[in-house]
Amino acid sequence: MQESLQNINVQRLRSFSAKDMPVDVLRLDSIHPVVSGNKWFKLQYYLQDAIAQRKNTIATFGGAWSNHIVAAAFAAKASGLQSIGFIRGDQHVARSETLQQAAAYGMKLSFVDRETYRDKASVINAHPDPGIYWIMEGGYGELGSKGAAGILSSADTSSYTHILCAVGTGTMLSGLVRAALPGQNIMGISVLKNNSGIEAAIRSLLGSAQRHQPFSINHDYHFGGYARHPAELIRFMIGLWETEQLPTDIVYTSKLLFAARDLLLKNHFPMRARILLVHSGGLQGNHSLPPGTLPFL
Ligand SMILES: *Cc1c(COP(=O)(O)O)cnc(C)c1O
Repeated sequence: MQESLQNINVQRLRSFSAKDMPVDVLRLDSIHPVVSGNKWFKLQYYLQDAIAQRKNTIATFGGAWSNHIVAAAFAAKASGLQSIGFIRGDQHVARSETLQQAAAYGMKLSFVDRETYRDKASVINAHPDPGIYWIMEGGYGELGSKGAAGILSSADTSSYTHILCAVGTGTMLSGLVRAALPGQNIMGISVLKNNSGIEAAIRSLLGSAQRHQPFSINHDYHFGGYARHPAELIRFMIGLWETEQLPTDIVYTSKLLFAARDLLLKNHFPMRARILLVHSGGLQGNHSLPPGTLPFL
């Protein structure tokens, strides 16, 4: 299934870099136009595990614009497995391009009301089919964390002193912590408001050997909360496209890039830092915006 995926490259951000402080972006978004880079890495071991357990179907959860849902649909198809997506909301969300794409990859969509959605165990218990392999929302879990560790070997990342990524469930960040070399600082930008439990959630994803590895989470750049995208953020995304030809998404990577630029302006990083920003993909979610909002897509 790898042949449909493109290479991952590293892009120097001229407008962010200083002479003795390069700032690069790891373009996981370039692996596929629809499948979000980090979701692809996170799903790898779940799919292997499902096949090893002789399951024929994966089932998982997500919203109408979920990067995870569409990546899970694609990955299941590529692995010869069936897929079911339990979608938060009623049928009318089925018109989202994300869900149409997931359905085109063969995913069966099942709509659940918000209350039921919150109680994942009730959904799982209502489907006692032994052929189903369940994957948590967003790919959260230890196998997701192990998969995300592969992100740092997708290119030569050994020379960076600071590696930054966006944080939702924290699974990707925990994978970076697993794979980091001694002395590399892993820093997450939380895209959720009031996300104070995230550090503990990340620690619980790390194996006992890594439980005490340092990392940091910055909570200052959520822009009002998950998927909130005030005009200031949209303007920043347009500017970034114009100066660097770097497309970003409204939920994750725009907030990461904004945070990085702001922290650079505030001299947050030590002299001679070498900074890597993980562009985790997610561009398909921008289709939730009115047409013409962004100059790319
Ligand atoms: C899901 C997602 C994230 C967040 O990953 P977590 O492992 O949940 O923290 C970041 N960026 C993109 C594009 C995503 O789709």
